[in-house]
Parts: sequence; C-alpha cells; structure tokens
Amino acid sequence: MRCKPEAEISCGDGGKQEESGAAACEHRRQYRREYMRRRRACPELQAAERDRRQRAYYALKTRRAQFQPGQNTNLRGEEVCAYCGRRPPVEHVMRLQICEQAPDGYVEVRIPYCGLC
Ligand SMILES: [Zn+2]
Repeated sequence: MRCKPEAEISCGDGGKQEESGAAACEHRRQYRREYMRRRRACPELQAAERDRRQRAYYALKTRRAQFQPGQNTNLRGEEVCAYCGRRPPVEHVMRLQICEQAPDGYVEVRIPYCGLC
C-alpha cells in the first residue's frame, strides 16, 4: 500500500505534523522495502517460492492436459454455458443432437445455458 503524505489532514499547528507524517511514511516505506529485500534474499524462502511456483505450474499443466473441449466445463472443472463457454449456467435447455444409432436420427440432450447468449 502506498501512502500519500500530501493527502494527510493538517491539525492547524503548521506544517510540523504533516512533515513528521511524511517522514514516518517514508520511514515505513524504507522499512518495508528493506524487509522485502531481505526476505527475497533468504535462500529457504527462495526455495519454498520456487517449489510453490513449480507445483502450481504442474497443476495447471495437468488440468490443461485433462481438459477436453465440448464438455461444458472450464479449466477449474466448473460447469459453464455451452454457448459462450464463460458464464455459469442458470438452466439446462433441451436440444436435439444428430445420432445415427437413434431410430429417429436424433436424440434430446440437455445443455447448460447462462440465459444471456
Ligand atoms: Zn452463455
């Protein structure tokens, strides 16, 4: 979070409090910057971050490999609208699908629909 020293409220005792507020803000900013610099330089935390990123990468890769288009689900496995493929469905609509094995040449299928497409 970034603080704005110029946005601080003055209490009428001149600019002294504003000045100390700006100095405190700068001190906090410097402290946070040094803290994060030390934290990023820590080898254990670097290894943990690398492991976390690698696990996330392989999890995403696995989900992508298992994903099959036309299943009406997104990469997270949640059901989505069959038409737009993005919004969650609010109802399932009945549609006819061509099927050569069926006696009529088609079968009824239920398709998720978001109601907006
Ligand atoms: Zn839709």
